[in-house]
Amino acid sequence: SKVLLTGANGFIAVWILRYLLEAGYSVRGTVRSASKGDYLKRKFAQYGDKLEIEEVADITAPGAFDKSVVGVDAVLHTASPVTFTGTYDGEPQAVVVPAIEATKTLLESVLKHGTSVKRVIVTSSVVALMQPHGNSYTYTDKDWNEYAIDEVTKNKEGAPAYLFYFAAKALAEKEAWLFYGLHKREIKWDLTTILPPYVFGPLIHETDVAQTNGKPQSFLYGNLMQERDAKALGNEGGAWIDVRDTATGHVRALQVAEASEERLIISAGTFFWQDVLDTVASVEPKIEGIPRGVPGVERGSASGPDSSKANRILGLKYISLAESVADAIKTVRELSA
Ligand code: NDP
Repeated sequence: SKVLLTGANGFIAVWILRYLLEAGYSVRGTVRSASKGDYLKRKFAQYGDKLEIEEVADITAPGAFDKSVVGVDAVLHTASPVTFTGTYDGEPQAVVVPAIEATKTLLESVLKHGTSVKRVIVTSSVVALMQPHGNSYTYTDKDWNEYAIDEVTKNKEGAPAYLFYFAAKALAEKEAWLFYGLHKREIKWDLTTILPPYVFGPLIHETDVAQTNGKPQSFLYGNLMQERDAKALGNEGGAWIDVRDTATGHVRALQVAEASEERLIISAGTFFWQDVLDTVASVEPKIEGIPRGVPGVERGSASGPDSSKANRILGLKYISLAESVADAIKTVRELSA
């Protein structure tokens, strides 16, 4: 069967692409410009015509995916601006609007032309449901990040940059469920959303490692280089998952009937930044330039999202933090060699 994968060149998407091809699927991957597909064509050359690359220059343009959805059995929508530097620039906002509009445009194309589509899977994020609740609260798929939505719609210029990303993910996922609810009676496909937390792990997408070392290509690298005080090292962190488990979760969600109409939170557990720095410090050979933090610093209490439903439905066994971080560091070292 054939799967449409939007944003096929991204950090998470290339792992999804790899696992889909390995499992025998044909994949039509969309990229913003054709040149971004060349790397994928080379990397997965052994699969020949089983990988099609399609250029979709503007994922928000009406009808952008009309051709892309023809003849596919499922759609995996990963393309979305991933940046914590959003601001309210008047209209249109650079992070929020494209995320919502692309979701809407894609689902409209599926509605009109996706006659063979059976399932649409949208990559959301735990930031679509986590809001400041204090550390004893366990988030579930009933939660929505109304806080971020309120801040960026009411407080606008005053809202911190990262909240634009959070609001974008919440609003785009809401858009998907709203669209699905409105059209449920006339369609033959169902909707699933996948909500990962911080995604760590090895990079196999085309990426500029100079950028990766200094700035967040994925959140791990940017955060590793940040100096934090002892209190923050033992208290700040979040929930995390390895990129390979994230990709496996997407592929299983395609295959498992019970994933239908679910918001699936996938998460390997919680961490504090000192845990990650301790892991980095134990990787051989030693890595230059990454702060050691304050080994042994007292840890606060952590609360993460409840992933039990996804664990049951998708049957994920999670890669450990030590393995994930070590593998991530290894690829960064290889890329910089
Ligand atoms: P990447 O930045 O590596 O990939 C994002 C993809 O979306 C790229 O293909 C990118 O294309 C495309 N994209 C972004 N903005 C636009 C736009 N305006 N128009 C067209 N294409 C666009 O990020 P990730 O792989 O980390 O993220 C993939 C998905 O997973 C996203 O939906 C993200 O929100 C979600 N997610 C990520 C987490 C993480 O920790 N990384 C955690 C939870 C969810 P281009 O390369 O051309 O920019």
